[in-house]
Amino acid sequence: MSHLLEVRHVTRKFGGLTANSDISFNVNENEILSVIGPNGAGKSTLFKMISSFLPTTTGEVLFKGERISNLKPHVVARKGVVRTFQETTIFKSMTVRESIIVAQHLRARASLAGYFWGSRMAHEDVDSFGRYADDLIEFLGMTEIANEQASNLPQGNLRALGIAIGLATDPKVLLLDEPFAGMNHDETMKMVNLVRKVRDDRGVTVLLVEHDMPAVMNISDRIVVLNFGEMIAEGTPAEIQNNEKVIEAYLGS
Ligand code: ADP
Ligand code: MG
Repeated sequence: MSHLLEVRHVTRKFGGLTANSDISFNVNENEILSVIGPNGAGKSTLFKMISSFLPTTTGEVLFKGERISNLKPHVVARKGVVRTFQETTIFKSMTVRESIIVAQHLRARASLAGYFWGSRMAHEDVDSFGRYADDLIEFLGMTEIANEQASNLPQGNLRALGIAIGLATDPKVLLLDEPFAGMNHDETMKMVNLVRKVRDDRGVTVLLVEHDMPAVMNISDRIVVLNFGEMIAEGTPAEIQNNEKVIEAYLGS
């Protein structure tokens, strides 16, 4: 069986600093894989290279056997590999439903101008995009806040909206960078369940970076551990919890 995503000997340098050094691992279809490691370990940099927001210095990332590193991020998003953002600032003046519709436009071919000026093509899109948005809103349990302005939403809902925006074009792989950051236990558990539902019901493969260890151990099928840009371990949550190098990296930091 071939892997959905392959990270192959990826290295990223910023001047004299090596943020990622020769990182290699695979991601299986329908897996939830977490990347963990102390601050500055290179987790976000790795996600930016997988989604092509940053070029690799050397090495490559393959999606379904095809190279996706060092392309344009929107090209990679259209292929189905999408990174979500904590910052949904451009959508703050819109409602939840409008944000999801616009996100579909931004990632699809139709232009945002078409959406506002109402060309015939855009009208047809708005109908189908509207239906998809309503499906997604129901799926994510956001029906009650569908017409709320994003700027009025509490943190937990705003994070869920970020996921909704990520799901707007039906991706195969979703990359979530610290989806539980700043959340209390209840909000985190809700989010854990939401991410699992996205995988279980939508068949989305999920990569996440997270610091909340109980949440990581709960949600992950496998974990990759980075430390100072190097990959020091890979395994199931049970394997990672008992790994000497991992324990040392966390205690030493
Ligand atoms: P993490 O997400 O694991 O905390 P990052 O990937 O954000 O780590 O950063 C890894 C290292 O690369 C850090 O030392 C950071 O300062 C450095 N770094 C990240 N992005 C840049 C950049 N654009 N320019 C220079 N250095 C960077
Ligand atoms: Mg980071």
